[in-house]
Amino acid sequence: MGYKGRNNKDESDIFTRESYRVRSIMSQRKRKNELRARIILLSTGIVLVVILSVLAFRLVNLNKKDKTGNDNVVEAGASSNSNTQNSDEKKKKKEEADNKEQTSTVAAKGKKRWLRDGLDPDKPMVALTFDDGPYTPVTSKILEVLNKYDARATFFIVGSRVPSYEDMVKQAYEQGNEIATHTYNHANLTKLTTKQMKEELRKSRDIIKDVIGCSFSTLRPPGGNINDNMRNNIKVPMIYWSVDTEDWKSRNAKSVLQECKVIQDGDIVLMHDLYPSTAEAVQKLVPRLIKKGYQLVTVDELFHYKGIKAEAGKVYMSGR
Ligand SMILES: [Zn+2]
Repeated sequence: MGYKGRNNKDESDIFTRESYRVRSIMSQRKRKNELRARIILLSTGIVLVVILSVLAFRLVNLNKKDKTGNDNVVEAGASSNSNTQNSDEKKKKKEEADNKEQTSTVAAKGKKRWLRDGLDPDKPMVALTFDDGPYTPVTSKILEVLNKYDARATFFIVGSRVPSYEDMVKQAYEQGNEIATHTYNHANLTKLTTKQMKEELRKSRDIIKDVIGCSFSTLRPPGGNINDNMRNNIKVPMIYWSVDTEDWKSRNAKSVLQECKVIQDGDIVLMHDLYPSTAEAVQKLVPRLIKKGYQLVTVDELFHYKGIKAEAGKVYMSGR
């Protein structure tokens, strides 16, 4: 009995120990399971955070791309209306940059602007233009009067004449006048092949660059002759006129002044710095126009202040 009893007691001890071990193993397992669950939860959390961050980053980048795309549209289509404040600010900044460029005497890329600050867009403007020069006996007198009245004009020069009258081109440029091209040989461009036409402009560009360090930004076609080949291939705007003084025909200052009586705001006036009678007329015309309140401007200034975006290959007759 005693043995049995002891045995029984031993057995019950074993049971107790067994059950304790089992419970201990179970609680260990439980803890392990809990730990595993926590690890899984934590890793899931980290993965989620990473995924969300990647998504957010992509979203921000997409937004940036969208904005750049819009800006490009605004800048490329300068004439298209954009009402957002943001694009208005961009435009302002662009204009400020343009104005800064004008103060530099020579634009690095050869794209020269012939602009002054401080002109009043609400006051009338007129662009006097002179073709067929330079020719010192006449050009120098015109420059003298322009300088005296702080006026500007545009000289559509014939490239082949530049070597003989280089000083005039320099002086005109230094006084802030626009130097533009009337081709190299005063060629009727409608009679030339595309290759010949481009050669006329290339030679004009080279000789002007040699003298003043930058190129022209507009062309006056000799004889006013224009065809589709020119419209398609010429990389600058073509400038006509709205007032023809016929100075080459009359060779008479009074007659030129008579023709100038029709001048109004935005006009482009055609003259030639080849005839002494033209210089004589300009000496009277400039102070008269200024007295009437006109600002005497370059073609570039006229278009700039009148809000005209002149395009390559297109023909412009005035600033209206
Ligand atoms: Zn001409």
